[in-house]
Amino acid sequence: MIDEPVTADPLGDALDCISASFDRFQEAHFWIHGLESYYHHASHFRWHLSAFLKALKEVPQLLQMELQNQPGFTEWFHGQRTQLRNDPLIAFLAKQRDIVVHQRMLIPESRCSVGITELRGMKLGMGLSIDPRQDSDHAMHRYLAVAAERGDFFGILIPDEDSIPCVHRVWRLSGFEEDIIEVCARAWLRTGETIVKVIRWMGVEPPPLSLDCRHADQKVQFKLYDREKLTAQLRALGGKTK
Ligand SMILES: [Zn+2]
Repeated sequence: MIDEPVTADPLGDALDCISASFDRFQEAHFWIHGLESYYHHASHFRWHLSAFLKALKEVPQLLQMELQNQPGFTEWFHGQRTQLRNDPLIAFLAKQRDIVVHQRMLIPESRCSVGITELRGMKLGMGLSIDPRQDSDHAMHRYLAVAAERGDFFGILIPDEDSIPCVHRVWRLSGFEEDIIEVCARAWLRTGETIVKVIRWMGVEPPPLSLDCRHADQKVQFKLYDREKLTAQLRALGGKTK
């Protein structure tokens, strides 16, 4: 019989000291994937965004709470927390979270286009302004409704093995060029830097943080549709197909 080696786990011990903070940080990570999953479902997307903003903002508060009895921590952490709070991105998102909690719904900007993709971006598309409170399906239904009257003017229903009808959607927060998920990912990593510093303060070197698990924009921003089903829907609306 081989003796099980007894391994010291300094990282595990450090994480035990900040279990609630780290749990909230992981929760925020989970909500980022929720944003990916519900990208085309307007309400669900917004609710995941709210949950993300809330969870992320609670991380530094929990760190303070969990380590307040460690000698010297509060004094040291005060500077770290101020730095994090003053980070323009973190400050902006914290404000959005306060708006959601205390004032009103947070409705980001959203644009979409209907067209076809060959799975490498949009091959052909027609931009539609979409009410951010509507699902991407709504944009496709609108196209079909117009196509039922005027014909499939974009030709997205013409049989073609290489292309797939799609809606390409992008969510943005005003003032940011990138997609919301990119903004959230940056904020998560920035908050993670503070956790890393806290773990180092406890004398442990944690592994680098990464969000490589995120899905590519192509996968997230494009909702693909079955051409035959769309064609059947067009016929049901009284439209002609070629
Ligand atoms: Zn992940």
